Amino acid sequence: MNKRDFIKTLGFAAAGVAIANSSSALPLFFKGNRKSTWPEIWTWMGGNPSRSDDEWKSIFEKLHNAGFGGVLFESGVELLAHVAPFAQDAGIELHSWMWTLNRPADEEAKKHKDWYVVNRNGESCYDKHPYVEYYQWLCPSKEEVFQHIEKDALSRVRIPGVSGVHLDYVRYPDIILPKALQPHYGLVQDHEMPEYDFCYCETCREKYMRKTGMDILTLPNPDLDEQWKQYRYDSVTRFVNRLAKLVHKQKKVISAAVFPYPELARTICRQSWNDWNLDAFFPMIYQNFYEEDIPWIGKATRNGVRDLKGKAHLFSGFFLPDLPNEGDLSQAIHEARSNGANGISIFEYEGLKEYQWQEIKQFYESKSIR
Ligand SMILES: [Zn+2]
Repeated sequence: MNKRDFIKTLGFAAAGVAIANSSSALPLFFKGNRKSTWPEIWTWMGGNPSRSDDEWKSIFEKLHNAGFGGVLFESGVELLAHVAPFAQDAGIELHSWMWTLNRPADEEAKKHKDWYVVNRNGESCYDKHPYVEYYQWLCPSKEEVFQHIEKDALSRVRIPGVSGVHLDYVRYPDIILPKALQPHYGLVQDHEMPEYDFCYCETCREKYMRKTGMDILTLPNPDLDEQWKQYRYDSVTRFVNRLAKLVHKQKKVISAAVFPYPELARTICRQSWNDWNLDAFFPMIYQNFYEEDIPWIGKATRNGVRDLKGKAHLFSGFFLPDLPNEGDLSQAIHEARSNGANGISIFEYEGLKEYQWQEIKQFYESKSIR
């Protein structure tokens, strides 16, 4: 099941991501310490293998004409290599959007039961999938897992015409779901429930024991132990930073789709993303999931920008079904740009209504007359 289907099963309509376009003289988008050639308007895009070459050409051209500069493309290596020249010809920057630690279709991983995360009840994610069938998560603390994912990431960035890799699901399974999703599962997650609290595998327990002299399972309330939380933030951080080094060696860039801002991301999925050495972050600031309004996009953007301290770019990610009315998308763009984002990303372009294409275009063109 892909991300869009997941969202559909949760009762939401399909969504989109938009990214920004590169151009000069963009004072608000260049507040960070680093100059950038990154496009400012992006979209996440699912790779549909049934499309013809002419369809790919016209999709990328349409995006380019509307002001989109980059696409985060979800597919296997073969389709990625096929599509890359069409994106390039249309002037679109293409990054490979890959599922990192949640690997439901990974036949190689399935041969290794011990690669999967284990919850506080001792249940392996290999056997029992939290929330949804396709939640099949690997443990970031294991060297074998790293080597396996590394191979995948490098095979993507080595494809000519692919300028980067975009990590998704690079975290632990949701320990606490966004508020609006909890009722779908009949849950009230006002504390860390053992069945959703990962990872207590042998490797994690041993590594934590070496570090602290303590077996985490002997504590009466491991979920309340701050050091144990930190161990898990660091485990994902180390994983990401090792990957970043290898991708940079290939002279390619690396980014990630992350939860709205670091403090919230740590709490709900142990993703301490401001510690990661990536080139860019695409926080999924999907306000309705958190029962928030459009101005919250601005607040979340500001928190992320503040915590990154200028070390990487930030593109505020929008969920189109949360922005249904004419003007909503423009307001979201305004919130992102006035709070220091380097651009925006839309989940996803296929959900764009005609007036939203126009709003993107207006945003793009407004920059050239500024
Ligand atoms: Zn583990």
